Amino acid sequence: MPNASMLDQALTRLDEAARQLELDADVLEKLKYPRETTKVRLMIRMDDGSRKSFMAWRCRYDDTRGPTKGGIRFHPDATDEEVETLAFWMTFKCAVMNLPYGGGKGAVRVDPHGLSKAELERLSRAYIQAFSQIIGPDRDIPAPDVYTNSMIMGWMADEYSSIVGQSTPAVITGKPIALGGSLGRDDATARGGYYLVRHLSQELGLRPGARIAIQGFGNAGQHIARLLADDGYAIVAVSDSQGAVQARGGLDVRSLIAAKQNGSSVASLAGTGGVSRLAANDLIAVDCDLLVPAALEDMIHKDNADSVKARVVLELANGPITPEADAILAGKNIVVLPDILANAGGVTVSYFEWVQNRQGYYWTVEEVHSRLKTMMEQEGRAIWAQAQERGVTMRRAAYVHALKRLAGAIEAHGTQKFFTS
Ligand code: GLU
Repeated sequence: MPNASMLDQALTRLDEAARQLELDADVLEKLKYPRETTKVRLMIRMDDGSRKSFMAWRCRYDDTRGPTKGGIRFHPDATDEEVETLAFWMTFKCAVMNLPYGGGKGAVRVDPHGLSKAELERLSRAYIQAFSQIIGPDRDIPAPDVYTNSMIMGWMADEYSSIVGQSTPAVITGKPIALGGSLGRDDATARGGYYLVRHLSQELGLRPGARIAIQGFGNAGQHIARLLADDGYAIVAVSDSQGAVQARGGLDVRSLIAAKQNGSSVASLAGTGGVSRLAANDLIAVDCDLLVPAALEDMIHKDNADSVKARVVLELANGPITPEADAILAGKNIVVLPDILANAGGVTVSYFEWVQNRQGYYWTVEEVHSRLKTMMEQEGRAIWAQAQERGVTMRRAAYVHALKRLAGAIEAHGTQKFFTS
């Protein structure tokens, strides 16, 4: 859960990476603080005629490498600090993938499950009314995140277009296909992680047949389960916010997805052919080869990291492992494929969507997949090589990889040396 030191914790990863490189002090000064965070109270009319207000944020953390990019989450626990931390991670994620973007993030403090569809639409449009001066195709480009989806992005793009008086699909990504969305955006986060695992499968010792446990069964969790199961991996345990299930011989992924689509928990499958119930908190300790956290931040922390049995962790969520837990996992020789690389497929296909919107020319799904695969493999391989060469974790190598690009951009404006020598 978010706490007071969340951004400070995230910044420890920057400090560690900085120690690997000879960096000008100007670079850290630029990256240590968010550039701007705007906080607005949104007021909407509820279906019963009453008015209700919701706290909302947009943070543009750093825009040295281009317009800021990052999703909007609708979550009852959203805080200033969480939004800024997520925007910090986006800054590094875009740099890891060499996308021409800085990092941003937005949030509304709301439980969207408690809203009617009409209230959800009013809230989504109110968000854009409040932040229309901040966002823009060359300024800050939102996208989906936890509990937001393509329909919400469609409402938001429409609202922005009405405000500026012209169709502007490139202001937001993750839209429905009919409104200028990209083919392949829906499963892009999971697919990026899947290409990464497949590309490094030899090094990681993760051949088809390996056992997978997935924590969180939203967009990313469902798609990674389907992609890996289709390749012959066994999905042995899955959890969502209501509960968890396991099956030694592998769960039937289609039934799990069908349960979610009917609005039930994965736990509703307990008792059917070889499927037994598991406490959601025990998911991370399941005996498996690959653990995939695909829910929220700080799920693996100092008090439970020691119970992880997997040999590899693929972080499809943002920030699921605390720095203290990182050290414990490294001590157990568990390889962590870090969020800023592992879940970067989402923002990468968002980038493809933005490019297509600006060109007015749309790609086939095969083109999207093949470009995503190439980029995940290229950056994943470079980070793997850095980790081996420097004898550091994949996380540290990913931060070093991103920091080199960020530092290059910051230094290109001139540093202290330039102005004083
Ligand atoms: N919310 C996603 C993330 O955390 C996607 C961001 C985007 O597509 O801009 O990476």
